[in-house]
Amino acid sequence: MENLKVTAIKYGAYRMEKKFYDYEPGGIISQPIWGALIQGAGRNILVDTGLEYNLEWLNKNALPTTIEEDEIFENALAKAGGITPNDVDIVINTHMHYDHIGNNRLVKNALFYVSQREYQIAFAPMKCQAKLYENTHHLFDERAVDPFAWRFVTGITDVAPGVRIIPTPGHTDGHMSVFVKTAEGTLCVSGDAVNLIEALENRYINKFHSSIPDCYRSYDVILDNAVCILPGHEPSLQKFQSSDFPRIDGFRR
Ligand SMILES: [Zn+2]
Repeated sequence: MENLKVTAIKYGAYRMEKKFYDYEPGGIISQPIWGALIQGAGRNILVDTGLEYNLEWLNKNALPTTIEEDEIFENALAKAGGITPNDVDIVINTHMHYDHIGNNRLVKNALFYVSQREYQIAFAPMKCQAKLYENTHHLFDERAVDPFAWRFVTGITDVAPGVRIIPTPGHTDGHMSVFVKTAEGTLCVSGDAVNLIEALENRYINKFHSSIPDCYRSYDVILDNAVCILPGHEPSLQKFQSSDFPRIDGFRR
């Protein structure tokens, strides 16, 4: 089996106080929003679709947000892999918070993988997470995605040779991460199961979770199955990075 190429896609950034995360105090940090394009064996697989290009809504309802020209969905796909949204064969939504599903509606020819649990939660979230799903139904209901295009995942699922979904709940009940065979070893595209590398390294859990024990179990699932990582909001990654992803094989359990 050939190794797959993974390219980090930046969909924008928001500013927030680091203590918002309950980590070490660190003042205001810029939080990039990362997805990933997986290419190989004639397929284009996209992990998460970022923010809807609606800065007015984002700045009013969410955090102060910027989306640069090459971070706009169509531009980012062109630069990352020379493709258009119509060329995407598979979308995997790690979870359905507004910053991971924002451009689902622009992808017209793909199958969409999401956990069955997450899809249910998106319509009826627990109260402490309601804001992260609120007023975003148009980004994932039948207005955005053909109902027949969804593939609801309930456990470990291979979506293509070398591309495996493993449930990693904790950030949300239905969260899942994607494990990809690359030339550098297995890379975990973790979504928000790990949002910052230092969280995994130091075993911090932030306050945006549905279950602390699940978060810790998911950290171990990731450490057991991958040697490097592309976390959902890690500031040290570069736009369109496609090699030298941060190593995690030395991290303690
Ligand atoms: Zn999230």
